[in-house]
Amino acid sequence: MNYSQLSFKDTLGLSTEELQRSLLKLLLGMHELAQEAGEASREIVPTPISAITPKDHNKALEIWRSDGLPMLPTLPGRPCPACEAETSHAVFESYDGYTFHECQRCGTWYVPLGVTWDLFARLFEKSPAAAAVAKDVASQRRSQLEDQDLSRFLRYLAAVMPLLPEREGSLRYLDIGCNVGHSLQAAKSVGILAHGVEVDPYPGEIARREGHTVVRFLEDLPPGNYDIISFWETLEHIADPLAELQLASSRLAEGGLLVFTVPNLMALGLRLLREKCTYAYGGFNSPGHINFFSKRSIALLLDRAGLSLINVDYEYSNMGVELAGYLQGGIDPAQPFSILSPPKHLSDFVNGIWPIITMIESTMGTLPMMQCIACHKGSEPLFAGKLAEKTQAAAANIREQAIARLKESPDPASLLEAMKEELQKRDDHVAMRIYRRIEKIRTSLQSLFRKPRTS
Ligand SMILES: [Zn+2]
Repeated sequence: MNYSQLSFKDTLGLSTEELQRSLLKLLLGMHELAQEAGEASREIVPTPISAITPKDHNKALEIWRSDGLPMLPTLPGRPCPACEAETSHAVFESYDGYTFHECQRCGTWYVPLGVTWDLFARLFEKSPAAAAVAKDVASQRRSQLEDQDLSRFLRYLAAVMPLLPEREGSLRYLDIGCNVGHSLQAAKSVGILAHGVEVDPYPGEIARREGHTVVRFLEDLPPGNYDIISFWETLEHIADPLAELQLASSRLAEGGLLVFTVPNLMALGLRLLREKCTYAYGGFNSPGHINFFSKRSIALLLDRAGLSLINVDYEYSNMGVELAGYLQGGIDPAQPFSILSPPKHLSDFVNGIWPIITMIESTMGTLPMMQCIACHKGSEPLFAGKLAEKTQAAAANIREQAIARLKESPDPASLLEAMKEELQKRDDHVAMRIYRRIEKIRTSLQSLFRKPRTS
């Protein structure tokens, strides 16, 4: 949705001056806390690493460095995945040893190598330990992330289904990169016929054991078209996303929608942290995030596949404390994830204002994930009316919620409670971490709000 048309006055019923005054109050409170806290200690900021535990993560990285990394020079090169331009320049080397480039034509960040499953098939053959970690990661996802995945996929599907034209019978859904099959489980639970494609053999096997129809390659599916085709956090892992999107487009029913989530190149965290960014990696036990698209470059890629980008929403949140710690130089160059938090009073302040920064960032389009909706070129008018309604309804809803919260919840405890509910609804594990930190300083915040220093 597009919030950028709304001013703070429209959205929150607050003037810029009123917002500035609130921020200054918080800043004064921070200095009060700093005096109480005395000499502050700094600790390593915990960073989430998807479904993999930090222990497995380090183990996989170690195996990769000794057995996998020397194979990189054997990989073929590739042009920009979005626009196919050959001219690019290096921007950073990731912690797992890949050089990321920036396309000089469209700005996409990418690994200019054909990183595919073949590389990891070769690695697993050479190193049974590497194969064992990959297998563990797949079963960790099945056992630990089921609830989180299900509500995330139900939320995504619920956002798309009302946009589709009326049709007879059940909707037909295809998820490409379905992992252990949680997306298929979610779709079936609301009466949708669901098929999946998963090239990674371990999670694919788990999905089939659960009774889902999952093939390794799109070409292996029986003929037929789908009303919804999704790529949830998948396009960033594919060496030739154009070919994959063209295939998907050929399987999309007339009046169907292609939906996907993909990391945002314009995310504040990625652009600032670069080689220190947890999710900027080329792949140490599966193809990593080898493509970072912006809204502009994803539109370009879709266009080349005969598709049209008709809506982008942004989600999740950049980690304010991590960014502040990094910018203060709290890093150890030898360790990938050793960003030190800023001193406690500053962390508290950053955590205190970050939910508001996140709202501003959703307006700016700099949150870490893009939720995109596309259709066949020429089908745009089919969805225009419903999309406009959706955008208007969402903006009105945010405005009402914000105003109600400001009027009815003057105390910080209930504001934090409301924030927690909001985060749980979004299944945002990064933001939940931030929330837990804020919860720790709830007492300090309460005293802060009780005795404001300015008026
Ligand atoms: Zn390009």
